[in-house]
Amino acid sequence: MLQLKHISKSYTVGDTVTKAQNDVSVAFRQKEFVAILGPSGSGKTTMLNIIGGLDRYDSGDLLIKGKSTKNFKDSDWDAYRNNSVGFIFQSYNLITHLSILENVEMGMTLSGVSTSVKRQKATDALIRVGLKDQIHKQPNQLSGGQMQRVAIARAIANDPEILLADEPTGALDSETSLEIMDLIRDLSHDRLVIMVTHNPDLAKQYADRIIRFADGQIQADSAPYEEQQTDADFSLTKTKMSYWTALKLSFTNIKTKKGRTFLTIFASSIGIIGVAVVLALSNGFQKQVNQTQSETLSTMPVTVAPVNTDTNAIRSNENASSDAKGHQVRAEKSNLERAQHTNKLNQNYLNYLKKMPKKDASNIAISYGTGMNLIRKVNGKYQQVTFSNADPNNAASSAGLMFSGGSSSNTASGVYPVNRDGKQSFLRTYYRLLDGKYPTKATDIVLVADKHNAININGLRNLGVNVKDGQTLKYQDLVGMKIKMVANDDYYRKLPTGSFLPARDYSAMANKSATRTLTVSGIIRVKSNNSDGILPSGVAYSANLTQTALSMNRNSKIAKAQKGQRRNVTTGQSMNGATRSAMLTSLGASTTPTNIQIYPTSFKKKDQVLAYLKAYNKGKPKSDQVRYTDLASTISAMTGGVMDAITDVLVALAGISLITSMIMIAIITYTSVLERTKEIGVLKALGARKKDITRVFDAETFILGFGAGIFGILIAYLLTFPINSLLLNITGLSGVAVLNPIQAVVLIIISTILTLMGGHIPARMAAKKDAAIALRAE
Ligand code: ADP
Repeated sequence: MLQLKHISKSYTVGDTVTKAQNDVSVAFRQKEFVAILGPSGSGKTTMLNIIGGLDRYDSGDLLIKGKSTKNFKDSDWDAYRNNSVGFIFQSYNLITHLSILENVEMGMTLSGVSTSVKRQKATDALIRVGLKDQIHKQPNQLSGGQMQRVAIARAIANDPEILLADEPTGALDSETSLEIMDLIRDLSHDRLVIMVTHNPDLAKQYADRIIRFADGQIQADSAPYEEQQTDADFSLTKTKMSYWTALKLSFTNIKTKKGRTFLTIFASSIGIIGVAVVLALSNGFQKQVNQTQSETLSTMPVTVAPVNTDTNAIRSNENASSDAKGHQVRAEKSNLERAQHTNKLNQNYLNYLKKMPKKDASNIAISYGTGMNLIRKVNGKYQQVTFSNADPNNAASSAGLMFSGGSSSNTASGVYPVNRDGKQSFLRTYYRLLDGKYPTKATDIVLVADKHNAININGLRNLGVNVKDGQTLKYQDLVGMKIKMVANDDYYRKLPTGSFLPARDYSAMANKSATRTLTVSGIIRVKSNNSDGILPSGVAYSANLTQTALSMNRNSKIAKAQKGQRRNVTTGQSMNGATRSAMLTSLGASTTPTNIQIYPTSFKKKDQVLAYLKAYNKGKPKSDQVRYTDLASTISAMTGGVMDAITDVLVALAGISLITSMIMIAIITYTSVLERTKEIGVLKALGARKKDITRVFDAETFILGFGAGIFGILIAYLLTFPINSLLLNITGLSGVAVLNPIQAVVLIIISTILTLMGGHIPARMAAKKDAAIALRAE
């Protein structure tokens, strides 16, 4: 069955070499009860460990069923211990955090026996050793004799051919010793039992064969045996601990030290809590900063107008004027005029704007001052209407209406930008819908209510809505309102005198093919309570509508006629340059935009936008330069940058505590390794591979790291509530600290990975521990 051929093994400690096995040769029968007697330190345990594959011999050979073990790999030894050998130790070596049943099952767990078979075999073994009634107890609820019975059940559960016992009764009283010896003798009827003892009486009473040991050598053998079998008939099933088993094993171990585990998790979660809170805060602040920025920018776009007035220049000119001397006066432009610059908003410039990076400015509104000839059916009859908030009865404000036709300008109405990707995201971002739909087409117009749900009364009256001041209107009476936009050629008729007059037959105009139908698609209201929004209360329409009006009218007869003469084609009056150019614009004869509004996406991006606009002027003569007005020039991009810097510093600080907690986990794992040395030995004796041991400890750090991550995130989440109410009190900002779920998950993963890394080295150290040494540890 087993044969030792010239086995030698020595231990070197410092300068002293101990020959624990000195050329030992002996063979064992398939079934016998061998007692090994000898003084302490004579090498008995060493031989047992070599036979059991827990320790390696230096020279010689160990033959198992005739098969040499000289070329055995680690995995072969692991499988051999698991399949063929059962160990019984003096100090029982039960794994205290596992139940009795789980202890007995462990060997089979390692070799992957199915749960039901495993349970059956373990129960049978426990019945066999006389523990039928104790099956559901924990190891620490048993007497010494009972614990040794459990250890025996564990050793025989997998029905090994070899049972090795190292002083199995050494820790028991004499009465219990005899019971255990009876049990072992019983077991020796179906297998080879080799028992180390220093009690000659027990040996004589129970063993079939006694081998005496001294100084690493066999002194006497009561029943020597020559191994006959030469043909190796021996195969091994390899062992493998599943990750699940490793997790379960670690979990039950962790459960036995709840207090310490909690403290560990708590301490190592502090880093995670720190990082999570900092991130939550910076998310919130960043969001607030971004929101404030975009809200501010939405009301303060960078504006390019046909005439740019530099307000700073007005002031500086006042100082620059020097006195004219010597009975002279000097002709001088007014300061205002001097500060004005005429911008050439030609196609070249518009094309340049089109190429501005979209990430810097997603919204650009280019509006044209083309007049719109608008009519609406009120009480069954068409009447002329306008998009204007001007009071029609007030001479001053209606002065803007230069002639009786359509509205002349959009000054009092809101023109909103269309996102450069063609979406109306500007309105969706800053305005909420009270009723109807957000506009989707150029011909969709909206009514804008202020933050008190009020709409300018003139805006409504100019649309033909008959209302009194303070009167309320239902949404449904306004949404869906249809307005016809009539082309100049249908709106004006040419008199034989050559001048043009608005026609009066509105219903005929309404049916002309060129006439477009505009619809009030919805009523919107500014979202923010801090800002009034850029659109004044009243009618608002897309910049695209002004382009539609332009393309409708630019080639109209009246436009062409006006281009060809200085006098007003409707009144016949002569006009100065400014009035004439306003007239040309209004009639659609001028294709120059009346206003360009550029909405930067953030303050940082605004700088890019300005740089882009400045770049246009580079190398151009002054007259070709295009100047802009930056209403938000006083607000710098600093705010966002400072936020970023603060966040970086805080994250770095929290990161350091994360590293600290990782080091702590490593130390804790290391202590755990030291603490569980015996368990490592037992697992190895049962056939666990190095990898399996690593796995057990990795599993433990995994649980700790994952637990710390979850716990940290939970605490950080709970902390956001008091933090937010504190911030609300101090700054008036609500809901600043917001834990981003993705960041939370990432942090849990980081915590798990960092602790795994910290614990892996001690885990590897544990795996490398020599099984024989581990078992000798007390
Ligand atoms: P026994 O079981 O007969 O008491 P052992 O086999 O335990 O004897 O020990 C045999 C000799 O080998 C002793 O002198 C012991 O000190 C020595 N020895 C055993 N294990 C080690 C070890 N890991 N390192 C150094 N010396 C050892």
